[in-house]
Amino acid sequence: MAEKSKGQKLSETLSYKKKNYFEESSEKVRKEMFDYAEGYKAFLDAAKTEREGCAEAVRLAKEKGFTRYELGDSLKKGDKKYYVNRDKSVVVFRIGEKNPEEDGVRIIASHIDAPRIDIKQNPLYEDGNMCFLKTHYYGGIKKYQWTAIPLALHGAVVLFDGKKVDICVGEEAGDPVFCINDLLPHLGRDQMSAPASKIVEGEQLNVLVGGLPYADEEVKEKVKLTVLSILNEKYGMKEEDFLSAELSAVPAFTARDIGFDRALIGAYGHDDRVCAYPALTAVLNNDSAHTVLAMLVDKEEIGSDGTTGMQCQVYEDLIEEIALAFGANFRKVRANSKALSSDVTAAYDPNFAGVYEKMNAALVSCGTCMNKFTGAGGKSSSNDASAEFVGEIRKAFAENGVVWQTGELGKVDAGGGGTVAKFIAKMNIDTVDLGVPVLSMHAPYEVISKADLYSTYKAFLAFMK
Ligand code: MN
Ligand code: MN
Repeated sequence: MAEKSKGQKLSETLSYKKKNYFEESSEKVRKEMFDYAEGYKAFLDAAKTEREGCAEAVRLAKEKGFTRYELGDSLKKGDKKYYVNRDKSVVVFRIGEKNPEEDGVRIIASHIDAPRIDIKQNPLYEDGNMCFLKTHYYGGIKKYQWTAIPLALHGAVVLFDGKKVDICVGEEAGDPVFCINDLLPHLGRDQMSAPASKIVEGEQLNVLVGGLPYADEEVKEKVKLTVLSILNEKYGMKEEDFLSAELSAVPAFTARDIGFDRALIGAYGHDDRVCAYPALTAVLNNDSAHTVLAMLVDKEEIGSDGTTGMQCQVYEDLIEEIALAFGANFRKVRANSKALSSDVTAAYDPNFAGVYEKMNAALVSCGTCMNKFTGAGGKSSSNDASAEFVGEIRKAFAENGVVWQTGELGKVDAGGGGTVAKFIAKMNIDTVDLGVPVLSMHAPYEVISKADLYSTYKAFLAFMK
């Protein structure tokens, strides 16, 4: 090869270019990426709702010797704990050697809820010899995407006597599944000319759950009675028990490799389990001198409100508990803490190139993506991390060989979105967004790159080091 010219050398030294993590990796690292992805796919299949995400995180934490913590329990250096918030959110944490007053804590916050179709409180009805459940969608979805695909029902019902029954139908081989019907194109003339938000409307998202009439001439709604009798037999449920139920219809398909080369993963709910899993495993596999916490929270998709969302006081309380355990000043602990708000970002999709600004869009396989700011319009409602904090993270990544990139959600004024970053920042904790670029975000089937998944895990380890 001819020797590089002075200008070529200078250009290489001075110019910035994103790197493809696959290309940057040895065979050994590539194998690690693919192996790590197997654990992630199993997590995805086991954790389609926040309740299941919480239970699965607890299961994995227990395997690594973490034990349950309740507010007020004593804490000491080296403790490996998990705190369960109402079975929908969990904080897995490890107390480090360093003094929390001087060193603060290291937080990685991700969410384990995902867009889906929730069942209403009085949902069951019969029409046209079929039985349906009425629904209210959860999170920002394109409603038309949720028709004509197999759906599973997940959730919990609290019966009249207070007993909680978990329900999960449509995941096991041999299980029936459910679906939302769509209109045949032959009769779709009006539908096809409607705006996408009206192709299928909210009140048309009814889940088909039965079709067998109960064998009794005296009964009016025979199909509904068949469904009710099965629910009663299997779960001890009566129709009234839907009042105190949280049931969700989620895509029934499992996580699968995408592509001849298996570089990508297709699944429901990468947002944000693709960050929650690395956050969790980074804390589980950690021996840092810092105190580290993976906060896996609920309700991000609907604004982080409620007792299990990031805005709940309990996450701050937990940091205060850690401070108290070491007689540390709570305010100083927070001031010296650092956080990654770990959520997905939009991956550049050449099929929709028009909404991206390519120089500042996350590219698939170029590693975990830092979004200095999120928000909409003029960065409205964004955390917008400081250059100082970004610089600090950048240095840690460089020192640990993390292949990463920066990005923003899309073109200026193309739309926007938010994360939990601003709620952590409100506690006086430096925070920046970092997570996996996702294709088809919020669709029933989203796609990510195995390189970006693994890069996120490596980035978290570097952050907590
Ligand atoms: Mn998200
Ligand atoms: Mn989302």
